[in-house]
Amino acid sequence: MPETIIIGAGIAGLAAAYQAKLQSRSAEIYESRDRAGGLLDNILIDGFCFDTAVHLSFASEFAVREVFDRTPHITHIPVSLNWDNGYWLKHPAQTNMHPLPAEEKVNLIKGLINAESGNICNYQDWLVQQYGYEIAERWPLKYTRKYWTIEAARLGTAWVGQRMRKADISEVLMGAFDSKTPNQYYVKEMRYPERGGYKAFIQHLIDEANIHYNLKAICVNFAEKKVTFSGGLEVAYERLISTMPLPELISIAKDVPDDIKQKADSLYATEIDLISVGFRIPNVSPALWFYIYDEDILASRAYSPNRKSPANVPEGCSALQFEIYWSREKPRNLSIEEIKQNTLQAIIKMGLAHSEDIMFMHHTYVPYANVVFDLGMEERRDVVRSWVERQGVSLAGRFGEWEYLWSNQSMMSGLNAYIRAWSA
Ligand SMILES: Cc1cc2nc3c(=O)[nH]c(=O)nc-3n(C[C@H](O)[C@H](O)[C@H](O)COP(=O)(O)OP(=O)(O)OC[C@H]3O[C@@H](n4cnc5c(N)ncnc54)[C@H](O)[C@@H]3O)c2cc1C
Repeated sequence: MPETIIIGAGIAGLAAAYQAKLQSRSAEIYESRDRAGGLLDNILIDGFCFDTAVHLSFASEFAVREVFDRTPHITHIPVSLNWDNGYWLKHPAQTNMHPLPAEEKVNLIKGLINAESGNICNYQDWLVQQYGYEIAERWPLKYTRKYWTIEAARLGTAWVGQRMRKADISEVLMGAFDSKTPNQYYVKEMRYPERGGYKAFIQHLIDEANIHYNLKAICVNFAEKKVTFSGGLEVAYERLISTMPLPELISIAKDVPDDIKQKADSLYATEIDLISVGFRIPNVSPALWFYIYDEDILASRAYSPNRKSPANVPEGCSALQFEIYWSREKPRNLSIEEIKQNTLQAIIKMGLAHSEDIMFMHHTYVPYANVVFDLGMEERRDVVRSWVERQGVSLAGRFGEWEYLWSNQSMMSGLNAYIRAWSA
């Protein structure tokens, strides 16, 4: 019988297996796909290398850096842009309004000056009180609808943390008068492998792990300590670590109380259609990545593989990848062809390239992207999580823990889950 079995070969599952190895113990990973890496996997098309959405590393934890820094990498200053109906504004838009017409700037700044403080019950309250209604509606509220797929009034604020720049009237005024503002992104540098895409950071974890591919967990019996995989393979375990999405784990587990099932059913995440575009011309993208506010453009964000690393594209070429978000609250009602057409129109509208510059437009579907922090989600999730952990299972990773984790945090989650599994 394997000592530890781990469901999922994303960074969290790989980290748990790595921790086992550090302790000279055995662990076996079972992965539903025929490839490892999960969200850190890459997409290789005709000499182009795309990641699964933006992905740059700002890891600071020693345990993560010790693994990631083995891979030769490039260090970037995280400068990004915003596209807003004909204007390119530095990020964050509210402190870089310089290119906008004076009348619009006055209106936006007046909104900030008149912003009133009060109770903060949801993300919309937070935004409107921070920035004033005019700025909030022009950028983050619009972006929330595209990226989170629901209104900001239905989102909590626990996930915000350092991610959103708080409004400071001097910064806003400075950015309205002058184009030379300092970079205000919440991290100062971001790292990316010289070659092989983001996945290269974890390639040695993949190489060293014992992974069984094409085996999807379809039934878990906590009482008997057994997992059944697609094809009928049944594996008994001493310790189980799950990085598969928490609601899915509940849906395949035996003897789950109704209350836990109901709470697990209420948890949902966004999903993404990624459109990866290869261009036969260089330097199409004006930035490492950029946000898109126009409501007629489906994509909320795009990044440039060649700006991350020139090795991601063939000589003389460039690339972009667009992220289009959906969820159970905003189901996709368009064909892939229509989504590609919309992306093509976006490229032309933004003046990035002409249709004849495009070599290919490739579609990838990502079923789990961001956990949605709708109001009260954390309380419901915590009840489900505690119940699962009481069944002797260690939960790890972005979807195992059902948390907003970056790759470094997912790695730490996997390392810690292994320690927890054996200290119980
Ligand atoms: C749009 C986007 C942008 C991001 N940008 C960044 C960034 O710039 N920097 C950063 O550090 N992080 C970023 N992240 C976060 C990062 O991708 C995640 O934290 C990390 O990849 C999650 O790893 P994981 O192992 O927890 O989950 P996953 O990568 O999802 O791995 C889970 C694995 O489990 C497998 N699995 C699922 N169900 C089953 C089953 N039933 N049986 C067997 N196997 C199963 C899946 O196939 C998958 O391989 C981003 C995430 C998204 C969505």
